[in-house]
Amino acid sequence: MKFLTIKKRTLCVILVGIILICFVVGVYYAVKTTSSPKAVYTIVIDAGHGGKDGGAIGKITGISENELNLQYAETLKEICENMGIKVVMTRSDLNGLYSPLASNKKKSDMQKRQEIIEQSGADLVVSVHMNAFPLSSSRGAQVFYGLDNDLGQVLAEKIQESLHVSIDYAKAVPKEGDFFILNCTSLPGALIEFGFLSNAEEENLLVSQEYKYEICLAVAHGILEFYEM
Ligand SMILES: [Zn+2]
Repeated sequence: MKFLTIKKRTLCVILVGIILICFVVGVYYAVKTTSSPKAVYTIVIDAGHGGKDGGAIGKITGISENELNLQYAETLKEICENMGIKVVMTRSDLNGLYSPLASNKKKSDMQKRQEIIEQSGADLVVSVHMNAFPLSSSRGAQVFYGLDNDLGQVLAEKIQESLHVSIDYAKAVPKEGDFFILNCTSLPGALIEFGFLSNAEEENLLVSQEYKYEICLAVAHGILEFYEM
């Protein structure tokens, strides 16, 4: 009888142990799945130009818009991802997106960008560019929205406002622009000319790490404000 009692007790202890382990494992997985939420928002960041199409060239540093756009796109991507936004890039290196066999490389490049936007499942598109103008005194970040795209206009307004309050010389009001990257989709989109490579002082700012981070942070805040509406 004594042997049986001990055996019963051992069985009880084992049973309680198993229940406890199941409980702990259950709680662990419940916490794990609720504490790593999926990104709620997805955006496309498009670094303008690439490959044969270098875009504008900095007169002082000789940097191409292709290269600088990619640096800005990557900085903006990092900031947005830290804010919990999922980012799809149209390009992640200096190459263009055109097919090597394409006779019209520009058209092929733009078609590929449109394809990436369509397949991204994103809520909005931000295209990164640098400006250049014959008049070297022109400067300041300018945001554009696509033709007849009301939500795009609101997005552009939010980004432009955010830039205007934190970045010197940034324009106050966005402009409507006839750009393929904005018109190829019904998604709200903003094309940002971050600054003028034709203005020496602004070129020096644009290539500096501090300015790059500061201006991309302002853009990311504008995007967040758009989402918060
Ligand atoms: Zn450009």
